[in-house]
Parts: sequence; C-alpha cells; structure tokens
Amino acid sequence: MANKLRLEGKIAVITGAASGIGEATARLFVEHGARVVIADIQDELGLQVVASIGTDKACYHHCDVTDEKQIEETVACAVEKYGTLDIMFSNAGTLGTLGTILEMDMTVFDRTMNINVRGSASAVKHAARVMVAKKVRGSIICTASVEAILAGEAPLAYIASKHAVLGVVKAAARELGQHGIRVNCVSPYGIATPMVCKSFGGDATTIEARICEKANLKGVTLDTNHIAEAALFLASDESTYVSAHNLAVDGGLSSIMKLN
Ligand code: NAD
Repeated sequence: MANKLRLEGKIAVITGAASGIGEATARLFVEHGARVVIADIQDELGLQVVASIGTDKACYHHCDVTDEKQIEETVACAVEKYGTLDIMFSNAGTLGTLGTILEMDMTVFDRTMNINVRGSASAVKHAARVMVAKKVRGSIICTASVEAILAGEAPLAYIASKHAVLGVVKAAARELGQHGIRVNCVSPYGIATPMVCKSFGGDATTIEARICEKANLKGVTLDTNHIAEAALFLASDESTYVSAHNLAVDGGLSSIMKLN
C-alpha cells in the first residue's frame, strides 16, 4: 500500500492545518496525490506550511471556524481553485483553560463550544452543500478525542464539546448517507502539540513523558502522523463503506479500565 497514491486527484480542505495534526495530515494527503486548502487563523504558520509543501499542491486560506461565513468562503476557495471538494477534515480545535467546575469561566465554555462544535457543524454543512450540489461522494472527517468517549483530565467544556462532535458526525452521517457522503471522526489520545502544551503549561518533552506514562499501549509514542494515517484511511476509498464511525487512535485506552 505504501507506494500507492490513495488520494490521487482528490481535493481537500483541512481546518487547523497550520500546526499539529492538521499540518501532518495536509502533508500526508498531498503525498498521496491530493490538493489541499490549509485553513487556519495562524496566517504566518499556514503560509509556511504551504511554502514547504509546494504552492502547486496546497494553498492557504484564512479561516476562523467560529465564523460560518469564513468556512463557506474557504470551501468556495477550494472549488474556485481546484474545481471541487472531495474531503473536508474539520480538525481545528481548542482545549481551553484548565480549572475546576466550581470556577468554570462560561466565556471560555462558550468559546470552546464555538470552535469545537459550531466550527465542526459549519464545516460539515458547507462541505456537504458543495458535495451534494456537485454529486460528489465525499468524505467528511472531524477530529474528536478520547475525551469524546471518556472524561479524562481535560476541562469540562472540552469533554462536552468533543462528545458533541460525535453527535455532529452521527447526525450528519445519517442525513448525508442518501447522497453517498460518508461522515466519520478520528479520536486521538494525547500528543504534545502546541494546543496541549499551551493549556497544560509545560514543555513538549515533559508533557509527552506524562502522556506516555498514562498510555495503555507501551513502546510507541503517539504522534501527529499516526492521526494523519487514520484520517487518510477515512478519506480514501479504502473506507468506502465506513460511515458514522469513531476511529479511536488511543492504543486501546478508551475501551479498557486499568485496575493498577
Ligand atoms: P495544534 O495546536 O497543533 O493545532 C490546532 C490548530 O487549530 C492550530 O493551528 C490553531 O491555530 C487552529 N485553530 C484554533 N482555533 C481556531 C479557529 N477558531 N479557527 C481555525 N483554526 C483554529 O493542536 P492539535 O493537537 O493538532 O489539535 C488538532 C485537533 O486535535 C483539535 O481538534 C484537538 O482538540 C484534537 N485533539 C488533540 C489531541 C492532542 O492530544 N493533541 C488529542 C485529541 C484531540
């Protein structure tokens, strides 16, 4: 499989693609023959990612996913530049700020919901509009989290938002199945990306060590490329009959209970 281009000729939009999981996925999608619109709010980083991938294979579009209009424009940019849209990877997210429920800041709660849930719902909506109009049997993927299955160390708002992302995916898969559009999500365990390091307040090495210590699967450190591989599977024709699925990339953590 390694030598086969699994997304040849496909057009993708990836939100939150200036960094972390989104960036790794953009690179992998391009390696597999896709053209990618990198959508993010970090313009400088996003443009650097495009420059390193190659402007013939990727482009950058500023997109704050809390603003539906910007998502609509980003999808329109993909269609204008590349002619269609086959894949939407709704991946932009925030962890918010750590703290207890008793001191929960409802402004942060709203912002977390806006980015993680509203952003995903808008991305699904505008990708599906184009796919339905163009009769594209597309693939829509959202990044949820192990925190969509269980309650770990993340703030309440993050856990609630990622549970809601599963709802977005299931509802969309149900309605869009008639159009041949698949909707799935990928649920990573921990990776010391900027989002995690910023919220937990520490350097990547220390945070990664802590993540590994709590992991179920030993001997391998989860990284952004592992999630990109899962997204590639869900984006490609290898998952032709997979929809409404939550692909946990968590070394089994969300399915087990550790007794020691
Ligand atoms: P990251 O910080 O490397 O990337 C997140 C990206 O989202 C950044 O480029 C950021 O600019 C962008 N973003 C944030 N708010 C945005 C907005 N309003 N509009 C557009 N873009 C915005 O972090 P990451 O770990 O790669 O996060 C990607 C996704 O993975 C998130 O949805 C996150 O919840 C999820 N996730 C991460 C982990 C982990 O441990 N890293 C685990 C489970 C799920």
